[in-house]
Amino acid sequence: MISTTGPIRHDRYRFCPACGAPLALHRIHADGPPRLVCSACTGVVYLDPKVVACVILEIGGKILLMRRKRPDDSHRWLLPGGYVDEGEPVEAAAMREIREEVNLDVSLDGLVGVFSYAGWPPVIIVYSARLAEASPQAGEETEDLALFAPEDIPWDALAFPSTRDALRAHLQGRACQPMPLTVCTAALNAV
Ligand SMILES: [Zn+2]
Repeated sequence: MISTTGPIRHDRYRFCPACGAPLALHRIHADGPPRLVCSACTGVVYLDPKVVACVILEIGGKILLMRRKRPDDSHRWLLPGGYVDEGEPVEAAAMREIREEVNLDVSLDGLVGVFSYAGWPPVIIVYSARLAEASPQAGEETEDLALFAPEDIPWDALAFPSTRDALRAHLQGRACQPMPLTVCTAALNAV
């Protein structure tokens, strides 16, 4: 399986999705990046960012981190979250992932930030949520989960730069109001 958490790789796509002819890398504009162009219909395959929704969930003042069963990050802690489906509101994806990965229903209370890194496909959108008390249960793809007090966060064993950066932003912003959500509530209620 090809990981989309690795750097951008043009060799993931070899054939034109419209006509099936081979793709080749061409620079369409002299100062632009190389693009995958179809050798027959000249269609261009643009490699879009992968949108990921994550949640920093505090339960009783501690932060929930999890480990996933996937071999590439099974030893490292990450935030519950995952890919947003096409047409799915990002906030709804974040709440769906919390249900799937730790079996909890949460309401999001703010946006922690949007994290992206040069040369990497994911754009990680991180929300915050709080519960006074709850008993999270590991979902199918979850190896284990744990609650960490802010001073006990395992900074040396986090899965991704975005995990670290989002936690830092969240902890530094604790004294401030979270950025309010701008989502239409009707869209959330429809989920
Ligand atoms: Zn084509």
